[in-house]
Amino acid sequence: MGAKLYRPRTLDEAQSLFKECCGVYMAGGTVLLVDRRHGAIPDADLISLEAIPELTGIRETTTGLSIGALVTMDALEASETVRRRAYPLWQAAREVGGPQVRNRATLGGNLCSATPSADAAPPLLAMDASLTVAVPGGEERRIPLRSFFTSFKKCALRPGEIVTRIELPAPPDSDGRFYKVGRRSALAISCLTLAVVRSGNTWSVAVGAAAPTPVWCPETSAALSSENADRIDRACAALQREIAPIDDRWGTASYRRTVAERLLRRALRELEA
Ligand SMILES: Cc1cc2nc3c(=O)[nH]c(=O)nc-3n(C[C@H](O)[C@H](O)[C@H](O)COP(=O)(O)OP(=O)(O)OC[C@H]3O[C@@H](n4cnc5c(N)ncnc54)[C@H](O)[C@@H]3O)c2cc1C
Repeated sequence: MGAKLYRPRTLDEAQSLFKECCGVYMAGGTVLLVDRRHGAIPDADLISLEAIPELTGIRETTTGLSIGALVTMDALEASETVRRRAYPLWQAAREVGGPQVRNRATLGGNLCSATPSADAAPPLLAMDASLTVAVPGGEERRIPLRSFFTSFKKCALRPGEIVTRIELPAPPDSDGRFYKVGRRSALAISCLTLAVVRSGNTWSVAVGAAAPTPVWCPETSAALSSENADRIDRACAALQREIAPIDDRWGTASYRRTVAERLLRRALRELEA
């Protein structure tokens, strides 16, 4: 018998189905269905999260934004609120795949697939986002994104847990940039991504596709936030210690190291101008 597709309307129903049928959660399906087709994951039943209202919508909060896990890259790009309050995330959403993929690809799915090159991860790491997670049984827990990615394609979710929302601090004086370098100028898997966020004299830097997981760079961020005259050189040196790129078909480790430093210097020029 083939795998079934379920479309629960509540978190409770989705989590009961997860327990009963040992299925997998599906958001936009752009990673999941491709992995299934290639045999990378078992042919389990699919539990679509699409009809669950708690996972939708972009809301402004007193401290920033609350974005539903099901919000697509298209919807992020179309949101004037996201553009105004979380510019690097808005930039990243525009860079994901092509129009068909952006129309289905969700923010929650991008983070939960936990690939080193997930484009939304560096902006959200730099902005210190956290995830609201529905635990089976009705409880909720918060996971800071900076402790969410545990190893290559692995995250801190436990079986049955569902990411419902992404909470994003967005102070009024903050600004930032996201850069993506790939082998082509469009439709490219990232060779390297870098996000820099500045709020007053506090800086925060995160990098994608330069380690087994997307990484926030605390030493680099602290060096930039200091008042040392050589803060930029110190930050560039720290950045080299905090990333661990490898050679693969999208770029060599040494190229990635060069690009990371250039992008950091470019972000500083743009944000300090
Ligand atoms: C042609 C193509 C091009 C692409 N280009 C890019 C690109 O340029 N940049 C980029 O970053 N990505 C790219 N991707 C990858 C993918 O589209 C994105 O990562 C997308 O955001 C994944 O979201 P989704 O909703 O499709 O996830 P799904 O495929 O539905 O799910 C992915 C994983 O996350 C889990 N999951 C999803 N939502 C939740 C949730 N709320 N709670 C718990 N678990 C959940 C699923 O169980 C699954 O394990 C591309 C994919 C394709 C096919």
